[in-house]
Amino acid sequence: MISFWERESFTRYDYIIIGSGITGLSVAATLLERQAQARVLVLERGIFPTGASTKNAGFACIGSPTELLADLRTMPSESVTALVALRYKGLRLLRQRLGDAAIGYTEQGSYELLSEPQLYCLPELARLNELLFPVVQTTAFVLRDEIIGQYGFDANYFKAAVTNCCEGQLDTGLMMRALLQYVQRLGATLVNGAEVLGWTDTGAGVEVRVQHTALRQEVAFWAQRVAICTNAFARQLLPDIDLQPGRGQVLATHPIADLPFKGIFHFDEGYYYFRSHAGRVIFGGGRNLDFAAETSTEFAYNELILADLTEKLHRYILPHTPFEIDMRWTGIMGFGSTKQPHLLLHSPNVAVGVKLSGMGVAIGSELGRQVAELLIY
Ligand SMILES: Cc1cc2nc3c(=O)[nH]c(=O)nc-3n(C[C@H](O)[C@H](O)[C@H](O)COP(=O)(O)OP(=O)(O)OC[C@H]3O[C@@H](n4cnc5c(N)ncnc54)[C@H](O)[C@@H]3O)c2cc1C
Repeated sequence: MISFWERESFTRYDYIIIGSGITGLSVAATLLERQAQARVLVLERGIFPTGASTKNAGFACIGSPTELLADLRTMPSESVTALVALRYKGLRLLRQRLGDAAIGYTEQGSYELLSEPQLYCLPELARLNELLFPVVQTTAFVLRDEIIGQYGFDANYFKAAVTNCCEGQLDTGLMMRALLQYVQRLGATLVNGAEVLGWTDTGAGVEVRVQHTALRQEVAFWAQRVAICTNAFARQLLPDIDLQPGRGQVLATHPIADLPFKGIFHFDEGYYYFRSHAGRVIFGGGRNLDFAAETSTEFAYNELILADLTEKLHRYILPHTPFEIDMRWTGIMGFGSTKQPHLLLHSPNVAVGVKLSGMGVAIGSELGRQVAELLIY
């Protein structure tokens, strides 16, 4: 049971946002930037955001050549350009909103490393540059093969390197902390440990049912409008939505003395990615080795993939440099039959912004803004 006081002062809002990842927090930020007096509640089931936004690699990226060429095989070129534009806009909004220092944003170089099977993309770079120019207003991709030797990568495995002039890296933890602080400064209420079990849009507003762990019962919250931003976990609240979870495995080394490279790197059509961070290497990917097992919302290790990451780190990335693994973790992304996110008004008072297809650092801010536009009344 809850008290009269709790019901009156703690459960009634103008807007409720479910999920405090980058998308949900960006919805809250936009709402409060536009309506400073609005009562905005963010409900998060974890003790801190616990999906992908605090687990990712922090690549502020708009797409690598092999990834874009793969997209062009399945999507019209206008859709590919629209997705690049969404990433570009999202990154710009994130940087404008929080400032580069607060999110640890730097541009130390962004590269796609190509092995023999991906060399097909080299003659396509001019076409890709032409395609992207209207969005980025510069030549996005430039050949930089010399970095393979300079950075000590295995030159028998990586045959070419292409830099992307429009990408950077950020500190994922700093970025999410800054975003949380930003929405709190604007007046949002954040409640953690609050798992939403269900919702009902009555037409006059939305009832949101939340598990109260201390009382061991459901508590009904009420808002005029609700945003569902639970990405990979969205099927719990939207059972019919086209969405599959996709788990990502990541490992981080201890700091390495004289780490021979700086920057962010992708290879194998974006299935693998690594970066430098404070002398460490953070390396993730390999989902394509075991898609079936990685279609999961469980935060569990996949030893097959982690062993593959460790071996690739030894053989191809740091072949001449000893290292030790410090940490391993997993995060859960949301994918579907297309790469575009789901952005929709599900019922008159409930908007949805989910399925970020592993691009949420880039698109989360702009998707959140668009979700807020659907809700504002
Ligand atoms: C390993 C990894 C590496 C990545 N690298 C990059 C990268 O370099 N660049 C890039 O652009 N993108 C990257 N991504 C993708 C990016 O992190 C995601 O697309 C983005 O964080 C999604 O943000 P979100 O807010 O939509 O979802 P999430 O961050 O998953 O947030 C959803 C939140 O909803 C909460 N929630 C779920 N169900 C409920 C419920 N019933 N009640 C209350 N709360 C609930 C969850 O706890 C979670 O905090 C990566 C992802 C992973 C996993």
